[in-house]
Amino acid sequence: MYICPYCGHRGRESQTGEEEHIIPLIRRGSDESRNKLIACEKCNAAKGRKTPAEFAKWVEATNWKPRWPNADMRPFLKAQKAKSKASLPRKSLGKRELMQIHGRQR
Ligand SMILES: [Zn+2]
Repeated sequence: MYICPYCGHRGRESQTGEEEHIIPLIRRGSDESRNKLIACEKCNAAKGRKTPAEFAKWVEATNWKPRWPNADMRPFLKAQKAKSKASLPRKSLGKRELMQIHGRQR
């Protein structure tokens, strides 16, 4: 049983959810437990390589939400807005920039 931190979906007893990296590994996130949480598979798939801030922006721009009966992205969006005053990249990274970051990691 888990509650998805993005959409609030409650997984049933038998459902374990998916391990999700808050900051994706490819974006220099760590593989430690403090960078991980359990999310529903729909949010995990949709978030992909985005940071939480980018995911929030994308959710707002596309009005995305997972098709759970009670999915609600608003608390997540609100929390992101409150958090994200200055420290975030001004624009989402393109594929080329992602590759550069990835390259620098090694
Ligand atoms: Zn979710």
